[in-house]
Amino acid sequence: MMAQYQAMRRTLPADVLLMYRLGDFYEMFFEDAKVAAPILNVALTKRHTTPMCGVPYHAAEGYMARLLKAGKRVAIAEQTSDPKPGKLVEREITRILTAGSIDNLSLLDDQRPNYLAAVFRQGKKSGLACVDHTTGEFTLAEFDDGGQLADELARIQASELLIPDHQLSEFPGLANSLPYDGYAFLPDHAGQFLRDHFNVHSLDGYGCSGLHAATGAAGAVLHYLIHQLRRSCDHIRNLRVRESACHVLIDAASQRNLDLVESRSGKAHTLLGSLDRTATPMGARLLRDWILHPLRERETLMARQDCIAAFLAEPYLLSKCRESLKGIRDIERTTGRLAQGSGNARDLSALGVSLGHVPALREDVSNLSQPQLASRLHDFTDLTRLLETALAEEPPANLKEGGMIRDGWSPELDELRAISRDGKGFIARMQEEERQRTGIDSLKIKFNNVFGYFIEITTTHLAKVPDDYTRKQTMANAERYITPGLKDMEHKVLGSEERSKQLEYELFLDLRKQVVTHLDALQQTAAAIGEIDVLCALAETAQLHRHCRPVLEESGRLVIVNGRHPVLDQTLQGEKFVPNDTTMEPEDSRLQILTGPNMAGKSTYIRQVALIAVMAQIGAYVPAESAVVGLVDRVFCRVGASDDLSRGQSTFMVEMNETALILNHATERSLVILDEIGRGTATFDGLSIAWAVAEHLHDITGCRTLFATHYHELTDLEATRPAVANFNVAVREWNDEIIFLRKILPGAADKSYGIQVARLAGLPKPVLERAKAILSHLELHSVKPEAKARGPKAKNTRQTTDMPSANPPQMDLFGQF
Ligand code: ADP
Ligand code: MG
Repeated sequence: MMAQYQAMRRTLPADVLLMYRLGDFYEMFFEDAKVAAPILNVALTKRHTTPMCGVPYHAAEGYMARLLKAGKRVAIAEQTSDPKPGKLVEREITRILTAGSIDNLSLLDDQRPNYLAAVFRQGKKSGLACVDHTTGEFTLAEFDDGGQLADELARIQASELLIPDHQLSEFPGLANSLPYDGYAFLPDHAGQFLRDHFNVHSLDGYGCSGLHAATGAAGAVLHYLIHQLRRSCDHIRNLRVRESACHVLIDAASQRNLDLVESRSGKAHTLLGSLDRTATPMGARLLRDWILHPLRERETLMARQDCIAAFLAEPYLLSKCRESLKGIRDIERTTGRLAQGSGNARDLSALGVSLGHVPALREDVSNLSQPQLASRLHDFTDLTRLLETALAEEPPANLKEGGMIRDGWSPELDELRAISRDGKGFIARMQEEERQRTGIDSLKIKFNNVFGYFIEITTTHLAKVPDDYTRKQTMANAERYITPGLKDMEHKVLGSEERSKQLEYELFLDLRKQVVTHLDALQQTAAAIGEIDVLCALAETAQLHRHCRPVLEESGRLVIVNGRHPVLDQTLQGEKFVPNDTTMEPEDSRLQILTGPNMAGKSTYIRQVALIAVMAQIGAYVPAESAVVGLVDRVFCRVGASDDLSRGQSTFMVEMNETALILNHATERSLVILDEIGRGTATFDGLSIAWAVAEHLHDITGCRTLFATHYHELTDLEATRPAVANFNVAVREWNDEIIFLRKILPGAADKSYGIQVARLAGLPKPVLERAKAILSHLELHSVKPEAKARGPKAKNTRQTTDMPSANPPQMDLFGQF
């Protein structure tokens, strides 16, 4: 047995743990045991000198899950022949479980996809391919630069990422990465592998022509699933190219800073959380995907808006659709499981229930003024009826224990069940029949373990025994017989339970096979349901929170009337959210500098504008009274270093890296949100950098920029740059107290109110008094830029200098340039 084990072990990569079935246990040996025992919290034992540990097979799923969670890959060797004395049981590695290919749905979050991805570099291009094995979703993309690849990786959050073993140095430091055979990535080989899988002559039909790097990655992912993990991939029927040119690019840092799908304070505080009123897992996953991949194409966005408008115009149909959607479960993943031969009767039953809601949904959707949605929902009347009539009300998860099939579905099964349920009754009836036939009233049918059922007749009646009785045994005053009829019945009664279970299993397999013949239609329908669900959710949100339909333009404008922050608007406790207008015009207000005291609402406001743009470009309605959004190609959102201490590196360095990325990649069509940039270093450095960045964005890039800053000097830019406009967040001073009005007003803030904010925070009174004294001293001598108070008049004075206006000590510094 150990030789068999070693031979198997040799076929596996070193890091894969082998769980080896031994009777009622899965055992692990040698290094595997040492690695696994502490993770599984089971005893590490020794047989002879071999370290080993084991888990009972009936609880194995849970243990496997723990290993996967710990980032391990696990091979399962099952026994494939029945144990016979003196003979080695045959074993086979049936599958290898990995984090990127989990298909036990209880281990997965149904709100998000679980990706296995691969990257590959060919020439200057980086290719990425991505499979969700649970659904069969398969996409690829190609990038001109490594940064964009990294951003997409940050979006998809793959659980497992393959890197060609000959290119490890080209992809350093990627999360969850794993080297894989470089040969599988070679575009010729990979292309052939994909063509064979999809059974096509060319991949051009999938839009892959010329995408060599991406094709290499795609071939490798599939190769890994099929050959190394031994998974069925028959349900992977489609390959989709993600064109980065079609999407609004949002780099990893911006995605984080905007809290699109994740936030430190939980899902409720993300854009996703504020929009997710989806009812199905397909919808939840799709909405996430839409948010991470906003679109640039106006037509597609308008089509989505039209659908939302159609739902809003018919609130009754909207609520009916949502009612139907609530009854639909994860068709997509269920179908995926069934197609891989791994689903059970509960999956079939859930599928049947879900499909039962499709006709009503189609009916409702086709009554909308946008009926095209309905055409992608297939007709499953026959399949639904089949599942309904064949499956028991609440079938068990186990496939071999019976109880899955409904009475009346199979006459043969019904008979077997009747016999096994009513074994005694059958015997009693037969005994009665035999008594009638022979006229022997004392005839008895009995049972013993030696020859099963028999007929016993006392010696007095022996003369009446019919010819078809065969004598088996002679007793003191009776004879025992059997008949073919009796043996036949015995066979039925004794084996009936076993055979009814076996028959149920076969009937189940047949049902599953029938379902899988509808795979394409099921996948298309699941995708359409996801889309309808997202559109319904967006319509519902629009209705609940009074969102409006934004006008989409191919321009550099951004005009929002009474805009609100989509998340705070819904989550703010106590206070009511104060709406604000935004007017960005290419000629005179594309760069807006926003000043105001801490806590006034600067960060909130600039993010609100960015989020409204993102929402408009997923096709959603936006939290405003009205909005005109000139479509953007990229969104950047940067937060000054000291606002973001949670990351490890030198935060100022990170801030500068991220700022460099903006300056190098923003275009005229981009939207840039800068929050306190330059804060992570000394004041003069910081101000100088902020100043230069603002100038560059205004003069060279020409993009739309919102710049929240505490460097009041920056507001001087308005005087020398035509498209710079100053704004501030209104506050009112009252008895040394500060009242936040949350209103954005034209013009620069007159002072920072730092001391008033400190008072709000509860700084001791003597400290506040002392600070006030120091401040007035500083203002008098004007040594620090922030301390320079600006009267309302100074605010509008146009200055001719191209440098920050500064007082003598500062002038010296800037004068050096
Ligand atoms: P700043 O960046 O100016 O320091 P923030 O944008 O962080 O201020 O806002 C501070 C707090 O003020 C927010 O957490 C929010 O609770 C509240 N707030 C901001 N804007 C608004 C608004 N428009 N309406 C209501 N409350 C707001
Ligand atoms: Mg702030």
